[in-house]
Amino acid sequence: MDPYFLELANKAIRTLKPYQPGKPISELQREYQLSRIVKLASNENPLGPSPRALTAASTALAECGRYPDPEAYNLKQALAKHCHVEAAQLTLGNGSDNLLAMLVQTFVQPGQTVLMPEYSFATFTIVSRTHHAHVVYAPSKEWRCDVQALLDAITPETRMIFIANPNNPTGTCINQMELVQLLANIPKQVLVILDEAYYEYCQQADYPHSMALQQQYPQLVITRTFSKAYGLAGLRIGYAISHPDIANLLNRVRLPFNISLPAQAAAIAALQDQEHVQRGLGINQQGIKQLRQALVQLNLKSIPSVTNFITVDFEQTAAPIYQALLKRGIIVRPLLPYNMPNHLRISIGTPDENDYLIEQLSKILSKEYSHD
Ligand SMILES: *Cc1c(COP(=O)(O)O)cnc(C)c1O
Repeated sequence: MDPYFLELANKAIRTLKPYQPGKPISELQREYQLSRIVKLASNENPLGPSPRALTAASTALAECGRYPDPEAYNLKQALAKHCHVEAAQLTLGNGSDNLLAMLVQTFVQPGQTVLMPEYSFATFTIVSRTHHAHVVYAPSKEWRCDVQALLDAITPETRMIFIANPNNPTGTCINQMELVQLLANIPKQVLVILDEAYYEYCQQADYPHSMALQQQYPQLVITRTFSKAYGLAGLRIGYAISHPDIANLLNRVRLPFNISLPAQAAAIAALQDQEHVQRGLGINQQGIKQLRQALVQLNLKSIPSVTNFITVDFEQTAAPIYQALLKRGIIVRPLLPYNMPNHLRISIGTPDENDYLIEQLSKILSKEYSHD
């Protein structure tokens, strides 16, 4: 890049690396002529959204000449009821990543510290560094967040701790005891942001009761999203549950029309169709089993996952396997940006998509294909 504009950019932005999303289907289609493309790269719901959400969104499109309700009154009422919280505790975001940025913008001064475990969601680093925060990574243990290591890394400069639970890209989670240990021992000036983008998927019995803990520990902020279990990733809508005063402060930063009209309508309808969510969770459970069995047969190690993707350890550089899968029309996620060059993250698809992945992966790994 020509240094001219680079030097005009904020210092914090100059060394920032852009988020590397899963390869879009349209891009792969441009590169190779493929009859079938299966995207298992961004942890989307393979069933897509509820048909009721789609109908609501298209009905709302007719009203798009007007601005959406800036307070999203109806959606907040529906969410408050669904989550058993007060509407005043909710803040809506254009995707939950929008909320993560607002949280740093609101509560972290330039030069103060944001703390997170190693192998955390890349967006945490981007939103922190964009707002001139200093980012510190606490060591993880066997791909899991180590709460004691986080506590040990806290300094007087620490203002915020990010934990994705379950975590992306590892698929692991912390339990109730660990979260309580953290919340009970943090200093007053530290907020804990618990990103529960995948909470619907986690079946673990000791998964934290974060909502109840939020009542007890007002420094806890929970973020959730319609992008994963609700299958609405393309409409961009997420929410934060916090102490009402935190919500009040966030709403000073939030731009007034950040949730589009179709997104508000779709989210309300999606909440009303819990059967669709359950169907998605069923497909996921089945898919996790199917993939886990196949990985064992292929002699591949993976990180035990409590969510809708599996992170596979190829015990060698995984880039050639990623490329070979692409050539066969399958998009998964390389984890080089996470310093995990031997791993690939594979989203759970429909049973049919999982079969296709397993079939192609075994071909790639088998001796016959080692020279192609
Ligand atoms: C997918 C994901 C999200 C969701 O982001 P949206 O902006 O709501 O689409 C949030 N956090 C993590 C860890 C994720 O993997």
